[in-house]
Amino acid sequence: MTNNTVYLNGHYLPLSDAKISVMDRGFLFGDGIYEVIPSYFGRFFHFEAHMERLDNSLAAIRLANPNSHKKWLKILSPLLIGTQDQYVYLQITRGTAPKRDHGFPENTVPTVFAMGSPIVPMAERDTGVKVLTMPDSRWKLCNTKAITLLANILHRQEAIDQNCAEALLVKDGYVTEGAASNVFAVIDGVLMTPPKSAEILPGITRDVILDLAREHGIPCKEESFSLTALQTASEIWITSSTREIIPVVECDEQKVGDGKPGPIWHKMNQLFQTYKQSLA
Ligand code: PMP
Repeated sequence: MTNNTVYLNGHYLPLSDAKISVMDRGFLFGDGIYEVIPSYFGRFFHFEAHMERLDNSLAAIRLANPNSHKKWLKILSPLLIGTQDQYVYLQITRGTAPKRDHGFPENTVPTVFAMGSPIVPMAERDTGVKVLTMPDSRWKLCNTKAITLLANILHRQEAIDQNCAEALLVKDGYVTEGAASNVFAVIDGVLMTPPKSAEILPGITRDVILDLAREHGIPCKEESFSLTALQTASEIWITSSTREIIPVVECDEQKVGDGKPGPIWHKMNQLFQTYKQSLA
């Protein structure tokens, strides 16, 4: 079941009726931020963490949050239908200005748009995906969830063109993250993921995985690793709210481990699914 009702600037309406001005700063400049909040069994997953990241993204682009966290919950909840796994996409732009000018317009009201969509589990989640590494061409504020995603889109498409599911980005010889995911690697038996910095988006799924690893005695480290170290990894995973934890079985046409999802992925995926159910 797909939810055809969306939220736009205070109103719930059919998607086909949701219209904004071509003078919207999001359309003209990509001047806005977004969040993607998953929901399982009819309840948002780590809603507060997503709200905190929303606060940080808004602060980074110097836009006041138009709503409290409690008000957001009230606005976004009607976009969920039933108890199927779904996610809400929320976008806030600086709004519609009378003219196209780079400087912030005065007294504009932000444009707020939100829609719900079903989470369709990735067909390859249990068998693994292929990835391609490439130089990270993005800007220096990757910890801001900006709607300006052109570099990410070009990276992802380059991977798709090579029959890969994701691009793994490399900056100064070190792996940062995926075009739309965080990255984990098991190197010398330790689960590693790059530390939080302006070079990566602080993924909510990433935090949950680190908490589960620590709680269940899986050795893990938040530490940068080089592309050379990645090539020695026995397991590689990519993680995000809409895809969860996806094992990588081939990187740059080389098998990862024995070319099958590894034992630590099996364990973590099980812990993650159990954790999701425990919050239901
Ligand atoms: N990094 C990037 C660049 C992303 O776009 C995303 C989300 N799609 C993530 C990491 C993962 O973040 P989350 O786990 O909060 O979905």
